[in-house]
Amino acid sequence: MNRTLIRDALTNLRPPAEATVAGWVRTVRHSKGGFSFITLNDGSCLATLQVVADGKLPNYAEEIAHLTTGSSVVARGALVASQGKGQAVELQASEVRVLGRADADSYPIQPKHHTLEFLRTQAHLRPRTNTFGAVARVRNAVCAAIHEFFQRRGFLYIHTPIITASDCEGAGQLFRVTTLDVSAPPRGPDGAVDFAQDFFARSTYLTVSGQLEAETCACALGNVYTFGPTFRAENSNTPRHLAEFWMVEPEMAFCDLAGDADTAEAFLKHVFRAVLDRCAEDMKFFNDRIDNTVLDTLAHIADSEFQRVTYSEAVTLLEKAGRQWEFPMHWGRDLQTEHERFLTEETFRKPTIITDYPASIKPFYMRVNEPDAQGRRTVAAMDVLVPKIGEIIGGSQREERLDVLEARMAETHMKAEDYRWYADLRRYGTVPHAGFGLGLERCVQFVTGMANIRDVIPYPRTPRSAEY
Ligand code: ATP
Ligand code: MN
Repeated sequence: MNRTLIRDALTNLRPPAEATVAGWVRTVRHSKGGFSFITLNDGSCLATLQVVADGKLPNYAEEIAHLTTGSSVVARGALVASQGKGQAVELQASEVRVLGRADADSYPIQPKHHTLEFLRTQAHLRPRTNTFGAVARVRNAVCAAIHEFFQRRGFLYIHTPIITASDCEGAGQLFRVTTLDVSAPPRGPDGAVDFAQDFFARSTYLTVSGQLEAETCACALGNVYTFGPTFRAENSNTPRHLAEFWMVEPEMAFCDLAGDADTAEAFLKHVFRAVLDRCAEDMKFFNDRIDNTVLDTLAHIADSEFQRVTYSEAVTLLEKAGRQWEFPMHWGRDLQTEHERFLTEETFRKPTIITDYPASIKPFYMRVNEPDAQGRRTVAAMDVLVPKIGEIIGGSQREERLDVLEARMAETHMKAEDYRWYADLRRYGTVPHAGFGLGLERCVQFVTGMANIRDVIPYPRTPRSAEY
């Protein structure tokens, strides 16, 4: 079918005089004078196109006069200046074909306000709503801008494995991948499940991060990025955590922590600017309906410099803040969301990059710094915090010294032989290198103002929830 997207029918300066459009009925009004006004949406934009169907059309009495919300139709006719309010163009149909009816009584997405909680129970139909259509288009624009940023800078897009034998974050929040019969797994002499008999002849998991493999590519190809699904079996029912989420992870050879932070800042600004430029209609919708600060916030961030502060400085600020924290802050503890939000929303009022965290709360691969004046040991880590979300990016300079890396692995009781390939990078032509990870959904949440991460991915996976 040679159809015109409704986006093009509405916005082209000179749309084709005669066009075929296809979509789903949002609302329909059957007038007594023998006309029907059908508003159609095809997902190409937020707006709908009004189709005017004349009672003289051959299938009018039988089909068109009974059309209801949710039905799918193809309409052909002339695109003309509209007499009605609220739209510039309408389609005067010479033909309206009904492809699929929707039963008006049972169709869940009626033209009225539905709560986001209700729509989560209709995950298969919610893309037909304004909110989820707008989320899908902005998410698409964010992904395109991510690729654009790295491609323009000569980064290679690489694909790291989804099934892996290593636990990159060392946090043990892994989903096991197995083909063993869970009701009767083979057991070794000690009674433990014998994973040597499993599909890969070892324990395997869904990846929590593509970083370690990305490092191997960066240490040959220079600048690379991986962008794919990651899985964390963390039992945290928060509005910012999913069990399955998408992460973009650049990795740069010959780069230190400062270069890493500069890249992260330029990267976020590029993505935010692209969304403002390319998703004006959808972003106005989010600003009007979801969060009336998103447009100002994004424009402000795209033009302002991010704050940089060390972890130790941040702790001092938090201790002096005179607040009753739910989690009181001392040097050595990890920052909680309440602390992150305080720093970025109240102290600095802009995105904030915190660097040089205590080694004891960060993974083995982060580069160990010289001890500070008080003799405390930190690593070259950085987190980028933004208002309302807290951490949106986590990154670090990687440990490139073999002896230091091996000592850190021993400290954290990791099996050196499992990471021989990772240590090899330090054995053969080691180089300083750095990278970070941006959670795609956190980014889409921030851009759109959507409060719950479950509403920025089509099919959210969270504890006890994988319906559909
Ligand atoms: P948090 O402290 O918020 O759980 P993290 O320290 O576990 O984050 P990293 O391991 O540094 O996060 O992962 C890099 C990025 O991936 C984070 O900055 C965030 O944007 C995103 N991310 C991490 N965990 C999740 C999750 N469960 N759901 C969605 N995004 C996540
Ligand atoms: Mn986490």
